[in-house]
Amino acid sequence: LKKSTEECEMKKALTIAGSDSGGGAGIQADLKTFQELEVYGMSALTAITAQNTLGVHAVYPMTVEAVAKQIEAIGHDIGTDAVKTGMLFSAEIIEAVSEQLEKYQWENVVVDPVMIAKGGASLLQQEAILSMKKNLLPLAKVVTPNIPEAEVLTGMVIRTFEDKKEAAKRLYEIGVKNIVIKGGHDENKSESTDLLFDGAEFYTFTSKRIQTRNTHGTGCTFSAVITAELAKGSNVYQAVLSAKDFIQAAIEDGIAIGQGHGPTNHWA
Ligand code: PLP
Repeated sequence: LKKSTEECEMKKALTIAGSDSGGGAGIQADLKTFQELEVYGMSALTAITAQNTLGVHAVYPMTVEAVAKQIEAIGHDIGTDAVKTGMLFSAEIIEAVSEQLEKYQWENVVVDPVMIAKGGASLLQQEAILSMKKNLLPLAKVVTPNIPEAEVLTGMVIRTFEDKKEAAKRLYEIGVKNIVIKGGHDENKSESTDLLFDGAEFYTFTSKRIQTRNTHGTGCTFSAVITAELAKGSNVYQAVLSAKDFIQAAIEDGIAIGQGHGPTNHWA
């Protein structure tokens, strides 16, 4: 039995995100994914959602103090090898989270700029976008927007591959070290291509598109894999490659529960 932090070789990852009562996205997706990848998972809740496969029925944000205290509790005692942010909901929560991330100087920070759930529910208030760009993105080692999120963050319309490259460059200029623009929302019907930009090179990750309704939580799961892999010492390219493989299997094995969009499979 390992007694203290010094003796323990288990890598740790923290998710700062919202709860999905249906278990498919948010904190639940992140912790299941961390477990699957054999990383010790921790969480700081930013909001509780009443949610199932039909959608988000209610959102209850935590107080700023509650968010800050959870992160402090982990920072003061356990520490972490990597941290991701998901649903942050408001500018004041983003500011509190950014302050804590700066305080602990965690190096492996993954920001999934969650904005709108598939069913249309807002998971980030409109006025919080500026704060995300100003306070949080400059602290990120990796940011993982889908195309609509990349459009909001850059003010661009993204149609072509060249547009994706331009959007990635603009996000780099904000101060994010590595940008992954996910291809799930693009118009290609047969393939999905994710684009990684590290400030110098572009890398693409292409897979066959899968026709399924069970894709709830894909974004959360994808960024959770990157976080777990960074915690274990992978570089960003390896972490994104692992995330692409994991999410492909997770969508292929999606779970047909409920009456709506079932979740992706976290033990793919
Ligand atoms: N609920 C929470 C708490 C989330 O963090 C997210 C996504 O990031 C979602 C819902 C959205 O899930 P999806 O759009 O995959 O259905």
